[in-house]
Amino acid sequence: MSSPESRATVEEAGPRAGSGPAGEQAWPGDQAWSPTSDFLRQAEQESGVAIGACFNCKKCSNGCPLTFAMDLHPFQVVRLAQLGQVERLSGCRTIWVCSSCQTCLTRCPNQVDLPRFMDWLKERVAKEGGQVEQQRTLLFHRLFLDEVKPRGRVFEGSLMTRYLVKTGGAFGPEAMANARLGLAMFKRGRLKLLPAGIRNRRWLKDLFKA
Ligand code: SF4
Ligand code: SF4
Repeated sequence: MSSPESRATVEEAGPRAGSGPAGEQAWPGDQAWSPTSDFLRQAEQESGVAIGACFNCKKCSNGCPLTFAMDLHPFQVVRLAQLGQVERLSGCRTIWVCSSCQTCLTRCPNQVDLPRFMDWLKERVAKEGGQVEQQRTLLFHRLFLDEVKPRGRVFEGSLMTRYLVKTGGAFGPEAMANARLGLAMFKRGRLKLLPAGIRNRRWLKDLFKA
């Protein structure tokens, strides 16, 4: 890799034709970037993901089911991290769209744990108060943790009610559709009436404290 001071024109093959992410950011082409390894070092250390092991084969992107809604392909996220392009990563939509389905990790020949890395990037943006491309995703994560904290398990009824109230889905025309969906899930045993919890609350408390 080039030294921090050097200028480099990054020339990567673009995503597969016809499968480009929505609202795709300029990639790559004629931009001159200044690669730096500072961010790569920090990212590997704090996230525990071996970003440097990626050799850009793009198998992650070709298997990802959500590239249609992303502005950067998964392989581009890794490549930008290798090049130290932290600002582009922090402001991208992809990290909020990723559903942690693990498909990319399963396909990666180098076991680069992209879902974990995306989580680390999300935490970083949230902690630093940066621009969050998908506010609803951040809200969902926060409500999810609020639910887990007291009992160690999520109570879907409460989680969804709180989420829908905060996002407007509990009112107006959306409310009926959501109520029907909730009823269908209840009939299939996917929604419980009462919350459940784990026994070892002490462990849970220590976990959240840590
Ligand atoms: S599959 Fe793995 S090695 Fe290939 S581009 Fe994706 S992260 Fe890199
Ligand atoms: S974990 Fe995220 S990036 Fe990886 S395949 Fe699933 S949605 Fe795509």
